[in-house]
Amino acid sequence: SLSDRLTSSLKDLRGKGKLSPADIDATCREIRLALLEADVALPVVREFIKNIKERAKGAEVSGALNPAQQVVKIVNEELIGILGGETRRLNLAKTPPTVIMLAGLQGAGKTTLAGKLAVWLREQGHTPMLVACDLQRPNAVTQLKVVGEQAGVPVFAPHPGASSAGEAQGAGVGDPVAVARAGVEEARTKVHDVVIVDTAGRLGVDEVLMQQAADIRDAVQPDEVLFVLDSMVGQDAVSTADAFREGVGFTGVVLTKLDGDARGGAALSVRQVTGRPIMFASTGEKLGDFDVFHPDRMSSRILGMGDLLSLIEQAEQVFDAQQAEATAQKIGSGELTLEDFLEQMMAIRKMGPLANLVGMLPGAGDMKEALGQVDEKQLDRVQAIIRGMTPAERDNPKMINGSRRLRIANGSGVTVTEVNQLVDRFFEARKMMSAMAGRMGGPGGKGKGK
Ligand code: GDP
Ligand code: MG
Repeated sequence: SLSDRLTSSLKDLRGKGKLSPADIDATCREIRLALLEADVALPVVREFIKNIKERAKGAEVSGALNPAQQVVKIVNEELIGILGGETRRLNLAKTPPTVIMLAGLQGAGKTTLAGKLAVWLREQGHTPMLVACDLQRPNAVTQLKVVGEQAGVPVFAPHPGASSAGEAQGAGVGDPVAVARAGVEEARTKVHDVVIVDTAGRLGVDEVLMQQAADIRDAVQPDEVLFVLDSMVGQDAVSTADAFREGVGFTGVVLTKLDGDARGGAALSVRQVTGRPIMFASTGEKLGDFDVFHPDRMSSRILGMGDLLSLIEQAEQVFDAQQAEATAQKIGSGELTLEDFLEQMMAIRKMGPLANLVGMLPGAGDMKEALGQVDEKQLDRVQAIIRGMTPAERDNPKMINGSRRLRIANGSGVTVTEVNQLVDRFFEARKMMSAMAGRMGGPGGKGKGK
């Protein structure tokens, strides 16, 4: 499977210190094969691999992750991107009723979806109604009625005995276009604010089906046409989606049967090839097995790497904690380097204005004195100066003599005075922070949380 392939291809990278171009090429070859095996459309695979290569090559080697983990992280992020990033909301009509038309092959899950969507909409305060326009199979209308009953929403159907079939009788039994039109009219008079139009599908794409769907579309002018796609179908997904895009046009995609062991290739392809967002996901036969589509979950599913991804998160967190502990040790023993100093300032800036933060800390007064002179605007200059130093200078600031200061000033576009000020301030801060750490729990400030 795709996840097996990816996992094994990524294993090859484990234990390497650095991502070499050869590593990236080899891994990308494996990922390419794996995606093709999972029925992802070729143009999508090409684009995907191109993005992965670019990002992997430009990726900084992170201290927190090994190369394999880094590639997994990149692959995951790119997958989420291809799957559509953020989820789009349903497009509601300015003047109700909002008309949602379902289209797709027979067995895709349209009728089931009609009920799920109705329940979901009702939970959000809408008053949906279903319209039975599948007059192809004898029991299709009955099926929708059952679904409607389970969902607790009315069904407009052309057969006698239906809860609100009166007008459809006059509109002509057997004509799905007329039923659709009458159904929307019924919703308007009965004040249902959303109409879900269930349509007929066939086993394969054909002219008659497309024409009928297009006629229904023209008759009711839907606000959304949702293309319902069985995620178990493989390469056919793209050609089917293409046919529906040409024949009917659609505004969004719903993936069904995600509870099966679909390999995910359809999901990956359909978004990219049709340019239409995947809006909902159907994950079972029960009405509650339904949710808005989450690209991140789909990506984990495709990669089969839910565990791997959370391991990566943990690795990053552990790394942060280790860094913090190491810094605390250095602060306590007065060994803080300029690199640490800069990192601390940047970290504090990320957390918000200095003033807010220092008030929250024990020993706040000392900290304020130590760091307080550095205002937010100056941080960029401070960063530039420290970046202008050699690693040795950052590690051992005592070696920064007059000629080094001049070189650093020239290199970072500031005056020697500014370099002097920074270095002085650093030594002062280091002394103060060390004293503070000592009071807070001995050398290294061991055992103290933030
Ligand atoms: P339609 O022909 O497009 O209207 O498809 P249906 O709604 O009748 O669904 C066809 C079959 O697939 C039915 O047996 C449904 O119960 C089943 N089905 C629909 N959606 C899902 C789903 O998300 N998961 C599973 N496991 N079965 C589904
Ligand atoms: Mg149906």
